[in-house]
Amino acid sequence: MPRDPKYDVLFEPVKIGPKTMKNRFWQVPHCNTAGTTHPGTNASHRGIKAEGGWAVLNTEACSIDPQSSTSPATLASLWDDGDIINLRHLCDEVHKHGSLAGVELMHGGAASSGLVSRNANFAVSEMTTDWTIGTYAHEMDEDDIIAVENMYCEAAKKALQAGFDIIYFYGSHGLLPAQFLSKFYNNRTDKYGGPFENRVRFWMETLEKMRETVDGQAAIAVRISVDQVMGDEGIQCWDEPVKFAELATKEGLVDVWDVNISNFTEWGEDAGPSRFYKANHQRPFTKYIREVVKAPTLNVGRLTSPDEMVEIINSGQADIIGGARPTIADPFLPKKIEEGRNEDIRECIGCNQCISRWERGTPIVCTQNPAANEEYRRNWHPEKFDKTPNPCSVLVVGAGPAGLECARVLGERGYEVHLVEADKEVGGHMRDVMRYPGLAEWGRVITYREIQLGKLKNVEVHTGAGLLSADDVLRYGADKVVLCTGSHWRDDGYSHNTMAPIKGIDGKEPQFVTPEQVMAGKEIGGRVIVLDADGYFTGVSLAEHIVDQGKDVSIVTHYGAVAPLTEFTLEAPNLHRMMHEKGIKQYTGHWVEDVDVGNLVKVRIFDLYRDGYQRTTEPGPDVAPRRMSDESTELECDTVVLATGRSANSQLYKDLRARKDQWEKEGIQAIYQAGDCYAPRVISEVVFDGHRIAREFDMLDPQVPQAYIRERMIWGMDPRPALHS
Ligand code: SF4
Repeated sequence: MPRDPKYDVLFEPVKIGPKTMKNRFWQVPHCNTAGTTHPGTNASHRGIKAEGGWAVLNTEACSIDPQSSTSPATLASLWDDGDIINLRHLCDEVHKHGSLAGVELMHGGAASSGLVSRNANFAVSEMTTDWTIGTYAHEMDEDDIIAVENMYCEAAKKALQAGFDIIYFYGSHGLLPAQFLSKFYNNRTDKYGGPFENRVRFWMETLEKMRETVDGQAAIAVRISVDQVMGDEGIQCWDEPVKFAELATKEGLVDVWDVNISNFTEWGEDAGPSRFYKANHQRPFTKYIREVVKAPTLNVGRLTSPDEMVEIINSGQADIIGGARPTIADPFLPKKIEEGRNEDIRECIGCNQCISRWERGTPIVCTQNPAANEEYRRNWHPEKFDKTPNPCSVLVVGAGPAGLECARVLGERGYEVHLVEADKEVGGHMRDVMRYPGLAEWGRVITYREIQLGKLKNVEVHTGAGLLSADDVLRYGADKVVLCTGSHWRDDGYSHNTMAPIKGIDGKEPQFVTPEQVMAGKEIGGRVIVLDADGYFTGVSLAEHIVDQGKDVSIVTHYGAVAPLTEFTLEAPNLHRMMHEKGIKQYTGHWVEDVDVGNLVKVRIFDLYRDGYQRTTEPGPDVAPRRMSDESTELECDTVVLATGRSANSQLYKDLRARKDQWEKEGIQAIYQAGDCYAPRVISEVVFDGHRIAREFDMLDPQVPQAYIRERMIWGMDPRPALHS
C-alpha cells in the first residue's frame, strides 16, 4: 500500500551543510554497548536501521582521546587506526542503504573515569567526577584547553578517514563543553570562566577549528542540552544556549542542531521514562533554538506517532525527526510509514530496559524488539523470519508477553499455531502492569502483538479457555507444545532474603494482598506496608497506586534504596521525588522477622546489619560466627502488600513431564517452556525467550539457546596500537 500523502513531508530530503539526508528520519547518537570493541554488533545494529529507512545513523558517544576514557561504560573511540577500521565497517553498512553515517565526538571532562586508561580526567574546574565515585579531575589550564580543542580536530580527521558524513561536537548531558557553558560547573576566573562570552569560548574555538579541519567534507552537528533542569544555577533553555546559537549561526559554524535537555547526573530528563514523560515532552525547552538558527534542527522525545511527527515539522518545531529508543524498538519505522503500514509500527514503551543494560555495562536489549542488538551476534533480522522446513502444528499455552511473541514468530515462520489463553483477554500479567501509575504505554507490548497475530492466517487465538490440564494438552492434537504459563507473586512472604516463608504471612487472610490481588480489588486498609524484595517497579508502583487512594503507605525493603533497579532505567530520581512528595515512608536496609495478626497487624522488621561486626576466631558447633542480635522494630498497619518474590507457574509442565511416556502415543513430539513459567524475569527477557524459542524451533532442542558470536580479540592477531608506537 502506498503511503498516505499526509506523510509526504516526512520523506522530503533535507540539506545539512555539504550533505543531503534522503528523508527527515535521524537516529540520534545512542549507546548500544558495542562501541569500537564490538564492531560487528555496532555496524549491524546501525545498518539494519538504515535498511529500515532511517536517513542518518549515528554512533554512540565517541571518545576523542584516551584523555577522556569513560570506562567502565562501553562507548566508541577514535584514538588510533584500529578504531578507524572498526568504525569504517559501521559507515559501510550504513552507506549500503543510501543513508548517512555520523559520529558523536566526545570529551567527557569530569564525566569520565580514567579507571582503565589511568589518566587523570580533565575538567573545567576542580571537582570529583560525576561518572565514578572516587575519581578527582584535574582543572585544565589554558594549554590543556588548547590541547583538548586539538584532540577534537585529530578525532575529526580520523572520522573522515573512517567515512563519516556527519561529525558531531557533543555538548549535551553535562559533558566537558556543557561544563564550560554551565555556571554551576564553571568557576574559572580566566578567559574561559565568568561571563557568558568566556564560558562559550571553548565551544566557539573548538567549532572553528573543527570546521577548518573538516573543510566541507562532512556536516558539522552540534548536540546541546539546552537546559540542565536545575533552575538558574545551571544552563537554561531561554538563556545561554540561545545566545550561543545566535553566535554560531552568525559565524556559520553549525550545519545541523540536535537539541535536547538534561544534565549527566539525571539524563532521564532527556531519555524520559514513559512513567513520567509522554512523547515530545522536551518541546517546551527545545523550541527556542530553532527560532534563532538557520541550519536544520531536530529534537527527540520518544516520537513514534507519524501524525505527531508531521505536526512537529508543519508547526515549525523542528526540521528533522530525531529518535533513539523508537529506532531500537522499530528499526523499520520509516519504511512502515512509507509503505502505508502504520499499524505495524512496534512502538517504544518508554520502559528504559535498553538503557538499564548499558548502565550495567551489558549489551542493550529492547522489551519491544527482541532482535535489537542481536542483528550480528545471532543474525536476527527484526522483520524477516526463515520459513520452517518442518511445518507442524504447535500449541502455545498462555498469551502473556512470552506466549504472544512465541506465537507471532512461529506464525511468521509458517507453523500452524494455536494460542490458547485461560483468561478472556490476552496479555497475562501485563494487563495489571499497564494499570500501574504511569505505565499505560507498557500495554503496547500486548497491542502490537495482537495486531500482528490478527494478520497471520495460520495462527488461531483462543481466549477464555480456562486453565488447561495435562490431559487437555495431551489430547489437544498438536505436534509440539510451548508452555508460556507465566508466574505469580508468592503469598507467604518467601523471597531470596529468607529462602522460606515469613512467619505469620498468609495471602489468603484479609490482612495480606499480593500484587495480583491489589489490582483485582481486594480490600486494603488505611495503613499499608509494602514489602519489596523484588527491587524493580512492582513494589513502588503499588505503593503509589495505594497512596493515591488516600492511604498511609510505607515500603520495607532489604535494599539500600527503594527500587534500586530503577536507578538503571533512569526512573529512580523522579520516583524518589514522588515518594517524598506523596509521603511514602521508606525503611531501607531492613527485612521482616515475622508478622503478628491481631486487632492490628504488627510487622517486626530488623536492620540487615544488626549482628556484631567482628567475626569469631574460634568457630565450632556451639559458637556463633559473630555476635548475633535479635534487635527489631515493630511497625503497625492494617494491610501488608507482598511484593516479595515470584514463583514460576510450572505445575502444568511438571504434570506433563511426569507423563512423558504418553507423549508419543498422543502424537506430541516435544514440549518446551518459555518466559516466566521457566524462570520469572523482567518483561524484556520474557519476550525474548518466546521469540528465541520460536526462531530456533527447528533445532534439536530449542529449550537450549544456540551459541552466538562473541566479539573479542583472538590471540595471535596484532594488537592496535602496538606498544609505544
Ligand atoms: Fe523503548 Fe523499552 Fe525498547 Fe528501550 S527497551 S527502546 S524504552 S521499548
